[in-house]
Amino acid sequence: MPEDRHFYLAQLKERLHYYKEMGIERISVNRSLTKETVGAAPVRQEILQPVSVSSASPRQTVPLPDPRPSGETLDGIRVDLGDCRRCKLCSGRTNIVFGSGTFQARLVFVGEGPGADEDAQGLPFVGAAGLLLTKIIESIKLTRDQVYICNVVKCRPPSNRTPEEDEIAACSPFLFRQIESIRPQVICCLGAVATQTVLGTKTAVGKLRGRFHEFRGIRVMPTWHPAYLLRNPAAKRDVWNDVREIRALLDELGS
Ligand code: URA
Repeated sequence: MPEDRHFYLAQLKERLHYYKEMGIERISVNRSLTKETVGAAPVRQEILQPVSVSSASPRQTVPLPDPRPSGETLDGIRVDLGDCRRCKLCSGRTNIVFGSGTFQARLVFVGEGPGADEDAQGLPFVGAAGLLLTKIIESIKLTRDQVYICNVVKCRPPSNRTPEEDEIAACSPFLFRQIESIRPQVICCLGAVATQTVLGTKTAVGKLRGRFHEFRGIRVMPTWHPAYLLRNPAAKRDVWNDVREIRALLDELGS
């Protein structure tokens, strides 16, 4: 299908770019694979193998670990999301807000959904809450470029209402794929919607924050949403403590 073609081409392009950056100049193509085989699975090791360019064995094929654990790239996921019409939020959006930051992030922040500023710019956390999130990130000696920031729903809910269950159900698979593609060391869930979606619970964020939980083997720290902090500055102390825990874990785990 044409959509699949775009998806696989985007994956292929990013994979080739990655190999080029690693100094790999040639690849061998397994021509025994049929069109059907290639169409049925994401681009994988057996389809594209980087070739060593060392003088000792110039034509030896060297298996390299997959650069993305899930085999999916963020670009590929974005292509698959396309001009999304999977839920009713599509009718009110200006831009899909997919996410920003690096695919190599050790830390991923997950918010609830775009607000007016994010909808206008197509970028997450660029309004007032975003300014505060930037300060939170910088307080643990990181920059926005060193982390990845995204939301549970990628389109702005009308009047910034809380996303509804069917909207979360339609959009959260893309969030999970983003997380699997990056496989960060830590996820920081901002607020109830992110926390409950990632952890698959209905428990209040106030009962979960302050300690690590787990999502598919990745450590998860729930904390208050920056928009909540704007209304309740006293809760900032909790967030500083929570992100300090994250900093300590990142230091312990190393890069
Ligand atoms: N609030 C969110 O949850 N996400 C954004 O991107 C902006 C505000």
